[in-house]
Amino acid sequence: MIAGPSGVGKGTLVRAVRARVPDELVLSVSATTRRPREGEVDGRDYRFVDRDAFAGMIADGDLLEWAEVFDNLYGTPSSFVEEHLAAGDVILEIDVQGAAQIRDRAPDAVLILLRPPSLDELARRLRSRGTESEDRIARRLGEAERELAQASWFDHEVVNDDLERAASQVAAIIEESRARLPGSVPQRTEDPSE
Ligand code: 5GP
Repeated sequence: MIAGPSGVGKGTLVRAVRARVPDELVLSVSATTRRPREGEVDGRDYRFVDRDAFAGMIADGDLLEWAEVFDNLYGTPSSFVEEHLAAGDVILEIDVQGAAQIRDRAPDAVLILLRPPSLDELARRLRSRGTESEDRIARRLGEAERELAQASWFDHEVVNDDLERAASQVAAIIEESRARLPGSVPQRTEDPSE
C-alpha cells in the first residue's frame, strides 16, 4: 500500500514500480463519488458511483477502507482485493486516513508512506498541475502537513525526490516483502533452457 499527500506523485510512482517488479502487481480499482476527469475510464481508473451507491457499499461492508478526501468519498472494494490476492499481489494507492484503516485491518499489508522532499516542493508540484485554485492548494498543503506529522506508523517511508530512485526503493521493498511474507507470490525462477 502506497499512501501520501495529494500531489506527492503516487500515481506516477506506482506506474514506475509496476514496470520494475518481475511478477504482476495488480492495482486496486477504488470506488469514488468524484466525477471522472477527462480521459478516465469507469472500471479502469475508478468505479464512479453516486453517494447513495457508496453509502450502500459502506452499509453492506463491501469496503476494506474508505475516507472522505476533499469533499469526495473514496474506498477500496474488499471483493477486488480478495479476488486478486488469491492469485498474486495487489497494490493500493490511497490517502493516509485509508492507510490507517488498512494498518488495523490487514496486518500483513506492507505500508509505504510517500513523502514529498519538502512542503515547498509539494506546493510547487500542486501549482504546476495548473488545475487548482490557490485556495485549494492552501487546503491541500494544510492537509498534507497534518498527514505527514502523524504518519510515524508506516513500515517504510520513501521520499519522492527523484522518480527513478524512489521507484527502485519501493520495488526493493516489495521484493523483500515477497520473500518474507507467507502466501506471497513465488519468485519467478528463470529457466535457462527456455
Ligand atoms: P484523485 O481524486 O486525485 O484521483 O484522488 C484523491 C486522493 O484520494 C488521492 O490522495 C488518492 O490516493 C486518494 N484515494 C484514491 N482512492 C482511494 C481509496 O480507495 N481510498 C482512500 N482512502 N483514498 C483513495
